[in-house]
Amino acid sequence: MSTPSSSLLTSLVQLTSDLEQQRFPESALYVVATPIGNIADVSLRALKVLSLVDAIACEDTRNTGLLMSRLGLSTPLFSAHQHNERESAEKIIVRLRKGERIALVSDAGTPAISDPGTRIVDAVIDAGLSVIPIAGACAGIAALSASGLMTDEFYFVGFLPSKTSQRAQLLSRLTSTRATLIFYEAPHRILESAQALANALDGTRRVVVAREISKLFEQIHRCQLSELHDWLAQAPEHQKGEFVLLVEAAVVSDEPDLSEAARVLTILLEGNSVSQAAALAARITGLKKNALYDLALKMQTNDE
Ligand code: SAM
Repeated sequence: MSTPSSSLLTSLVQLTSDLEQQRFPESALYVVATPIGNIADVSLRALKVLSLVDAIACEDTRNTGLLMSRLGLSTPLFSAHQHNERESAEKIIVRLRKGERIALVSDAGTPAISDPGTRIVDAVIDAGLSVIPIAGACAGIAALSASGLMTDEFYFVGFLPSKTSQRAQLLSRLTSTRATLIFYEAPHRILESAQALANALDGTRRVVVAREISKLFEQIHRCQLSELHDWLAQAPEHQKGEFVLLVEAAVVSDEPDLSEAARVLTILLEGNSVSQAAALAARITGLKKNALYDLALKMQTNDE
């Protein structure tokens, strides 16, 4: 094992001593992000808080127990998962009112992001108590940052519904969303989801597969949506591990869709002048009269 460089050790010592000067208020819930693969992604603030708090509310005490032993910490743990969030929230509020500090963690990454935690945070805020985020890893944001896709507008979808009809409904609502789409996926569903995405969205949109971020077999692959399924099927390892899929934003024309207007004008032109038909069509469709007048003129000329 190689020894850490002296400059790294000096930085760590300096940062640790800076941390000692910082305040970590009592009666607060600390929402602590933990690594999504590489344990070295744990922040110094997370280490400090996890060692300082009176107890840690965990999605799964076994998983957090393993993390704690790797970090050399032995803070008491209790469970706060999807099925007992309401009771856990009450328990946490009682403890916070006594002046304790409690940390909230999920199995990996940022709590409450496709993970339990939202109800607890909401209840603690409603009770008038403080909630303090301890920022760190989040798979979707890490993948987005390395995707090269537009980041000024993005839409976090998380996991797609497993039922085919619900999934198709959700995707049809997203076809014209002008934002990078972020999906989470598990290995056993990756091929099915890739197919569903390709069926629902324009196949020429770019897609980024971010697999096993921060782990030994990390891979970031970019292709067109129409090529995604084949790339995944090409090699068994392409389907292994944890996935974030990002789909490039939809390109939607600003030009109004005149097909419905043309249908309306066809009927109106039967008994009205071009000008009257355009005025009536504007009232029916909400489109501009000038554009409809031009369209009506063209339609009449084509008919002659
Ligand atoms: N709270 C987590 C976060 O902040 O990203 C997400 C938890 S969610 C239950 C787990 C999903 O996140 C996985 O199925 C995968 O889609 C994604 N994920 C987690 N770790 C990942 C990693 N190292 N690489 C790629 N995706 C990951």
